[in-house]
Amino acid sequence: HTRTKPPPTPSPLRFSKFFQSNMRILVTGGAGFIGSHLVDKLMENEKNEVIVVDNYFTGSKDNLSRWIGHPRFELIRHDVTEPLLVEVDQIYHLACPASPIFYKYNPVKTIKTNVIGTLNMLGLAKRVGARILFTSTSEVYGDPLVHPQPESYWGNVNPIGVRSCYDEGKRVAETLMFDYHRQHGIEIRVARIFNTYGPRMNIDDGRVVSNFIAQALRGEPLTIQKPGSQTRSFCYVSDLVDGLIRLMEGDNTGPINLGNPGEFTVLELADTVKELINPQVEIKTVENTPDDPRQRKPDITKAKELLGWEPKVKLRDGLSLMEEDFRARLSISKKK
Ligand code: NAD
Ligand code: UDP
Ligand code: UDP
Repeated sequence: HTRTKPPPTPSPLRFSKFFQSNMRILVTGGAGFIGSHLVDKLMENEKNEVIVVDNYFTGSKDNLSRWIGHPRFELIRHDVTEPLLVEVDQIYHLACPASPIFYKYNPVKTIKTNVIGTLNMLGLAKRVGARILFTSTSEVYGDPLVHPQPESYWGNVNPIGVRSCYDEGKRVAETLMFDYHRQHGIEIRVARIFNTYGPRMNIDDGRVVSNFIAQALRGEPLTIQKPGSQTRSFCYVSDLVDGLIRLMEGDNTGPINLGNPGEFTVLELADTVKELINPQVEIKTVENTPDDPRQRKPDITKAKELLGWEPKVKLRDGLSLMEEDFRARLSISKKK
């Protein structure tokens, strides 16, 4: 007689990495500006499963709406200052408010997010053997005394100022990354991101590019914080995301600067936005906030050599792409 075979019992091993062909990737802060663009790019690869954890402090589900319900995507409301148990192969750790008005709103929470949040993600990486990438910032150079800033520069940060919760929080997080690497052999990647802009930035989050574009569209004066001669270098978000993925996939721990070396004064940026979006708009000078860095420009020699990376999108082109997104979200159509 014939015997029908019983259905196979699921083996716990099928959850193990050995049997898993897909790459499981955790993105903390994935509902935010950069995180959601990173998720879009990672989801393009059918071998990737993406898990986002976010507490929605500055991010939003809207940024991920196209992926909600997708079989390779999962969204978890979670605060990284609490322990997290998931099984993943890679961690992109972005969770942290990036705009000064948000990170200064609850400075103690900002420090906890950077320090305890990063400690938790490193503990997770250690437990599951995942590679972890941390998004640090050019703010670790503070108000720099070296220009442009190479990774070897240690920075000039005020430890007790109103920006310190972010700057020093990121510096401690970098230290944690390297100590877990040296002490526990964790595979780490550290990116030092310079000012990044693009679609999905919070419209009223106070950063200079989003402020100027929203002001130009609303016909409100562009607010130049004194003196206006301070410089920044603006990287379009698709270039930045490309750099983050190259860093994760490459062999170098970093820290590696990711940013666009094109340097502009805030006044030049205002003039460009005015010319592109609304030539009638006024420009006014307002008070600045303490400890504002006077100049900032990345030295990206290391990224070029080690990652074969450099930004492609020019400021004017990026501003136009952002204008389209802001027009749609503010419901302000272009005059023909
Ligand atoms: P963002 O504010 O748009 O995104 C941050 C995300 O993290 C948000 O979705 C927010 O809700 C989430 N988050 C904050 N605290 C959290 C917590 N405790 N637990 C879970 N989620 C939390 O900012 P962004 O511009 O996308 O920046 C992403 C990362 O890149 C940040 O780490 C930031 O420091 C870094 N960075 C950004 C820039 C830039 O110009 N945008 C420059 C340098 C570094
Ligand atoms: N952790 C976590 N998820 C894990 C493993 C650890 O969130 O899967 C947290 C854990 O709660 C701890 C932190 O990561 O607070 C650091 O963990 P580690 O094992 O390095 O240190 P220990 O628990 O020994 O202090
Ligand atoms: N800034 C400005 N007007 C604004 C917002 C910002 O002139 O409406 C200036 C700000 O003083 C700083 C620069 O633009 O010198 C960049 O500020 P942002 O908050 O975008 O980024 P960060 O200071 O973190 O580089």
